[in-house]
Amino acid sequence: MKKEATLLVTGGSSITSGIHTVNPPVHRGSTVYFDSYADMKRRSSIPSGTVEGITYGTSGLVVQKMFEQAMAELEGGYQTRAFQSGIHAISSALLAFTTSGDHILVCDNVYGPARHFCDTVLSRYNIETEYIPGSAGSDITRYIRPSTSVIYLESPGSNTFEIQDIPAITAIARQKGIVTMLDNTWATPLYLKPFDLGIDISIHSVTKYISGHSDVLMGTVTTCRDVFERFVDFYETLEIFASPDECYLALRGLRTLKVRVEHHEKAALAMAEWLEEHPLVGEVIHPALPSHPDHERFMRDFTGSTGLFAFTFRENYPEETIAAFVDSLELFGLGYSWGGFKSLVTAAAYPRHHSSRYQGKTLIRLYIGLEDLDDLKQDLVTAFERLA
Ligand SMILES: *Cc1c(COP(=O)(O)O)cnc(C)c1O
Repeated sequence: MKKEATLLVTGGSSITSGIHTVNPPVHRGSTVYFDSYADMKRRSSIPSGTVEGITYGTSGLVVQKMFEQAMAELEGGYQTRAFQSGIHAISSALLAFTTSGDHILVCDNVYGPARHFCDTVLSRYNIETEYIPGSAGSDITRYIRPSTSVIYLESPGSNTFEIQDIPAITAIARQKGIVTMLDNTWATPLYLKPFDLGIDISIHSVTKYISGHSDVLMGTVTTCRDVFERFVDFYETLEIFASPDECYLALRGLRTLKVRVEHHEKAALAMAEWLEEHPLVGEVIHPALPSHPDHERFMRDFTGSTGLFAFTFRENYPEETIAAFVDSLELFGLGYSWGGFKSLVTAAAYPRHHSSRYQGKTLIRLYIGLEDLDDLKQDLVTAFERLA
């Protein structure tokens, strides 16, 4: 009979599962057992990215590999790696492909914290960030220097929804050996295929649609084959990985992504069309509307739209009036992020380096969730009545 201290350590471990559930088991582990010394030597020589190559918890465990493989297949990339947030994925991709003395081009409508990272961290390593207009295309040649190493795009861009001419930009970047990255969070892997458009690295905030329930923070980087070695060396050297629980939830989110996104698409577009007719609304900023300045590019490159867009008021209201409008909404929660089941609203102005048609204007950003559309419209009707 084993003594108590041993029982504490080994109790229950004689039960091996053999049970197969619809969803995968979640392993928690730092140490991963090898069958033998020979197995240890063999597995340590297998490239990462496969379950066979897992030698330690920091390799990422089984459910992480499953999620990464699903993402790489969906996006049409070579391999994916998971991160503990979207911004961590962005900052790591930028660090992996830059060196002191480099110059990088970033679209002016980039996600705010990504801009902050470039301006405050990359700058300390003597990496210069220059912002290009949100609807840049072949005019990008004007900004390229011999030291340009990365072009970073986000399309449609955060908050102001400009669309870049991705194929025109990637064709130029290819010729010059510049690595291109795209934040593809808005379109999801379903509605834009970055690798078909020549992008080298696609980034997602999994926090949004992919996990889909506002209870996960995660990101991914997917690369084409050419740049994978450089990226994965960086990822493994920094021992980046995502927690098994978060990977489990992200994988579960993927299973229902299509039906959720199709609903967000339909509801948001109907809402955008309805708002366009409203007498107090100035401009509705939604790439799938023919009135959107980059609508033609959108139709050419995307196969669908999703649930996030913005509008301006016809009149320039003082801040108290904007506050009253936002605060009177009951079904739209006031809060950052999007991609979950709940409708959300934010209100802000977005200063840009380059001239913008929304300069100085307050943008009301709506995220259309899974509530009944008529109830959401009624919520807005009530808020508009307070303005009139
Ligand atoms: C939210 C967001 C991110 C960052 O994701 P987190 O997981 O919240 O760090 C990056 N890009 C876009 C476009 C986003 O909306």
